[in-house]
Amino acid sequence: MSCGKPHEIDCAEILQEVYLFLDLECSDERRAAIQHHLDECPGCLREYGIEQEVRAIVQRCCGGDRAPDALRERLRAKIAALGVAALEAG
Ligand SMILES: [Zn+2]
Repeated sequence: MSCGKPHEIDCAEILQEVYLFLDLECSDERRAAIQHHLDECPGCLREYGIEQEVRAIVQRCCGGDRAPDALRERLRAKIAALGVAALEAG
């Protein structure tokens, strides 16, 4: 998965680390690098937006616990189907 532009960090790597980024589990330095990538890469930014939505839903439904992977995947698919236009508009 790539937007075709060269980045300091590979898109696949960013998308693997988006969960860490959202959970504030990576270092400040790494977060800054990921943020920089998101700023210049619409493809990853969209993925990141979906992750934020998933987290918001999971926190509402599960009281802040992490959802099981299967649930996350279901939510992701659902949001991807419903929400891309809204994310792009917002
Ligand atoms: Zn990217």
